[in-house]
Amino acid sequence: MSHFLPYGAQSIDDADLAAVVEALRSPYLTTGPRVGEFEAALASAVEAPHAVAMSSGTAALHAACHALDLGPEDEVIVPAVTFLATSNAVLYAGARPVFSDVCPDCGLMRPEDLEAAWTPRTRAVIPVHLTGRPVDMEVLSAFARERGAAVIDDAAHALGASLRGTPIGGGAWSDMSIFSFHPVKHATTGEGGAVVTADEGLAARVRTFISHGMVREPDQLKAPSPGPWYYEQQELGYNYRITDIQCALGTSQMSRLGGFVARRRHLARLYEERLASLDAVEINDPGPDGSVSAYHLFGILLDFEGLGTTRAEVMQGLRERSIGTQVHYIPVPAQPYYRELGYDPAPFTGAAEYYRRTLSLPMFPAMEDGDVDRVCDALEAVLAELGAR
Ligand SMILES: *Cc1c(COP(=O)(O)O)cnc(C)c1O
Repeated sequence: MSHFLPYGAQSIDDADLAAVVEALRSPYLTTGPRVGEFEAALASAVEAPHAVAMSSGTAALHAACHALDLGPEDEVIVPAVTFLATSNAVLYAGARPVFSDVCPDCGLMRPEDLEAAWTPRTRAVIPVHLTGRPVDMEVLSAFARERGAAVIDDAAHALGASLRGTPIGGGAWSDMSIFSFHPVKHATTGEGGAVVTADEGLAARVRTFISHGMVREPDQLKAPSPGPWYYEQQELGYNYRITDIQCALGTSQMSRLGGFVARRRHLARLYEERLASLDAVEINDPGPDGSVSAYHLFGILLDFEGLGTTRAEVMQGLRERSIGTQVHYIPVPAQPYYRELGYDPAPFTGAAEYYRRTLSLPMFPAMEDGDVDRVCDALEAVLAELGAR
């Protein structure tokens, strides 16, 4: 039996191990110099002026929403197809998530989806670069900014992606972008996330928020400082800090980001060539003109019912051949928690149609070229077997 291929996995090498060991032997396990080094590596990779690293991508979404000073009357538009964290963060910040529909064939928020979800209460929008394909930030962002709303892009899938030559996360189209460093993402810190921004004030607010709302810089204190021990809590924050141990791994990983993303793109080309002959399989739409995907995921569309089978059967057939797949994502307004809040998934027909057909095949830099053939052969065999009954 061949080794199991998960849908995603980290790549850890000896340099990563050495960097973590060095951090463990250093005086600082947290709030030390490795945090700033990791932030600098990230800021430079996405060409952003400021990066603030923290404990998770979810914390980054929460911090970014908090920095916008949202209130209970404020609405934030998020796509119906995304990971739970995107809309949960809006709830954490005390505002109201409003879902937009997505393209039935690509799963991305389109300008018409944003327009349909817009109300006079819309204060911000959080587009998601699903699977690593940038949404059309140029158009979405212009629409939001003309109406005085803020833009946070959830770039958890898109580290290394670009739109018309500009990196996602560089601040060209959004007030803040968030990244995740979970092991399935492009570079990992175990758990970890970051807010990147071109706005110094937003970066400072995010930094305060992730450490209890605590301020020490003399020019930011409300009272005269009685001495070097003095600090002030000026708002309610959290402990969302990341450790130096994690950042040591992150900086080491970031030094290989270019190679990781290039490898993902190479595997995607192999998948595209190999799947072209499989009529039942539609490859994910590449996204807007001029977008270059970072391929966090390799998504395909299959009309399971039309083929006389179910997604569960196809996934099981692949699993029996040691191939892991996953579904990204169940539309969030269909979740019991959101239904109980009064949300209804029914209007989001594009989201339902995308969800009905999507499947994520294995995609991670440590995959070998031959693994793509193995996945495609298995998919072909499973479809033939299930469809022929
Ligand atoms: C991974 C991810 C996040 C953040 O996840 P964490 O696990 O908290 O780092 C947010 N949004 C999307 C779309 C993601 O895939």
